[in-house]
Amino acid sequence: MTYATMWTYPWDVLDEGAEEVIGFLREEVGLDAISLTPAYHTYDQLRLHRAGPRLYSSYEDAVYFQPDLSRYRDTVLKPLISPVARERDPLEIISRLCKRRGLGLTLWTIGTHNHLLASRHPECALQGAFGDPYPGALCLANPQVREYIRALSVELCNRYEVDCIEYESLYYLGWGMFRNHAKVGVELGPVGRLLLSLCFCPHCRGRAGDAGVDAGALQAQVRGQLEEVFAGGSLSGDLEGYVAADPLLSAYLRVRAAVVTEVVKELRGLLQTRISFLYMGDYYYNGTDQDAIESVVDQVEILCYGSDVAQAAAAAKAQRGRMRSPEKLLAGLSGFHPVADEKTLREVIGAVHGAGVRRFSYYNYGMIPRRHFPWIREALDEVRRHD
Ligand SMILES: [Zn+2]
Repeated sequence: MTYATMWTYPWDVLDEGAEEVIGFLREEVGLDAISLTPAYHTYDQLRLHRAGPRLYSSYEDAVYFQPDLSRYRDTVLKPLISPVARERDPLEIISRLCKRRGLGLTLWTIGTHNHLLASRHPECALQGAFGDPYPGALCLANPQVREYIRALSVELCNRYEVDCIEYESLYYLGWGMFRNHAKVGVELGPVGRLLLSLCFCPHCRGRAGDAGVDAGALQAQVRGQLEEVFAGGSLSGDLEGYVAADPLLSAYLRVRAAVVTEVVKELRGLLQTRISFLYMGDYYYNGTDQDAIESVVDQVEILCYGSDVAQAAAAAKAQRGRMRSPEKLLAGLSGFHPVADEKTLREVIGAVHGAGVRRFSYYNYGMIPRRHFPWIREALDEVRRHD
């Protein structure tokens, strides 16, 4: 059975009229659920649907509900409440409406990607080989980061009626989560990027030490290799081959992946709801061990956002082929550019459905031009006829 949800911002729902939007998405678009964000990074959004001001910006990472702050009394990291949630609780309003209209509710929750918390608490951020705290990227080996994610997740799942919690960036974000204009004068290449992505914070070093891996030796080695890149050299070789040839680096990556899997297991043990894990990174840069993660969660997600129908189908087929439980796969599809006409929209979902996927999420309500919604409805009706 085809299942369809749509990523949705709470401010779009509230400002356009919560009753109308929820009813429209259920009845007119034919969705089974929405994936609403309760905790989000910064953004500048061109709003397509509403009258009045059209550019909407959030300069800080924030939560879009009214947290019970007593739950964060013992956490070093505290949620920043968005102005959108100061006068009313968007999640309370929208979850109630979803329930009433028979629309499922997934909470699309950002994990480690948080510029505000990483800048207020640099000791909780990833730390590169030279000791620099990285912007916008919290480290999952840090107990304070884990405590914050646990508190946030438990509150969301226990206080609101939700069917699923969907994690974006529940892994090591690595190198490149810049907020400012990046000024990088050398070509890092895949290996340079990998080396800069490694975290050597005290917690990561400690985890490595527990596993008998000499983090100090690796850090010194990585610094030397990066100094060579910075001097104008380059590190050749494909990533996989480079890692395989270095037992110390390979062991460090295994420790990092074990940290990510451990966090997912921890959340699985705590939460009574379905858990979905959005893949946007990979094993080498981000520490995601897909087999291990898939054995714990209820759903994993890949993004098939392009307009190339064959490519979308091939990506879905390849991912399903890698999975022990391919029915756990959800494919993210774009509801707008570059999927900009009715035919392409129908063909993309048709091809991914043809590759065996039955779970879909469209990106995203407030960014989809009005004209596209009936097309999405028709595309969904079409694949449902083939279920
Ligand atoms: Zn770390």
